[in-house]
Amino acid sequence: MNWLTNFVRPKIRALVNREVPDNLWRKCPACAQMIFHRELEAKLQVCPHCGHHMRIPARRRLELLFDDAEFKLIELPEMPVDPLRFRDRRRYSERLREAQTKTGLKDAILVAHGTVGGLPTVIAAFEFAFMGGSMGAAVGEALLAAARLAVLQEAALIVVPASGGARMQEGIVSLMQMPRTVIAVDEVKRAGLPYIVIFSDPTTGGVTASFAMLGDIAIAEPGAVIGFAGQRVIEETIRETLPEGFQRAEYLLEHGMVDMVVHRADLRATLIRLLRLLREKTPEAEIVALPNAEPAPADTGATDHGCSPGAEPAAPE
Ligand SMILES: [Zn+2]
Repeated sequence: MNWLTNFVRPKIRALVNREVPDNLWRKCPACAQMIFHRELEAKLQVCPHCGHHMRIPARRRLELLFDDAEFKLIELPEMPVDPLRFRDRRRYSERLREAQTKTGLKDAILVAHGTVGGLPTVIAAFEFAFMGGSMGAAVGEALLAAARLAVLQEAALIVVPASGGARMQEGIVSLMQMPRTVIAVDEVKRAGLPYIVIFSDPTTGGVTASFAMLGDIAIAEPGAVIGFAGQRVIEETIRETLPEGFQRAEYLLEHGMVDMVVHRADLRATLIRLLRLLREKTPEAEIVALPNAEPAPADTGATDHGCSPGAEPAAPE
């Protein structure tokens, strides 16, 4: 019996289990199709069947956006851990440690600098796997550091949120990060540098209600949930059924809350185009003559209201 359990069984197990990790196939949460992991990675974690954009880790996000996937992470400022000594079913400090072990990150954000399209850029990417990408003091501090680094390097600032909102275990301290991050991006704007937000799934709560909605240009990934309160909470409050696709990137585009919805595969090229337009004084573009440009109409006063400063509005007939 000993011989069977100690020798034969492990041998058989080794034979059966050899090179078969359990995550070779992944099921798409949107269309339920099985996707081979290599194919999924080649498609940048976008379902090849339905185009569903799956969440990606912060580090992968940085690799996808920077030139040659090269960047330098910055050391994030040390923050007091668990300022309120918060405890729900478990201690907050315990949850933090667990998230740190799981993700290998200090908190729910990575800040890196490098170039995008040859232009100096600072990118702050959220890590959703770290307590739902929630924003506490450490994340707020990291965003401040990112903004100041952008100003120092005269670089563009790009933030990629993937967050459920404020970190409730930090109570009022997490809410204070909303004004702080607004001040952070304001420093970038005042320096005349571009600030671009790339909404990924999900961007909700206090993150939406602060720095995320302040981008000079707001880009969203297809299907990303972007909103303040969740759909169910709103429905229960106003007692109405919300329209199809409510709080999705495409719905927000239609209603003017985001500027463009861009497939993950085109994100980098789009970003380069935008950064060149914003940063290069003479962007590469063809000068096109307008066909049959009509001569400007004579001074009728009817066509020029609001065009020239100080012009009198046309008197109504
Ligand atoms: Zn799918």
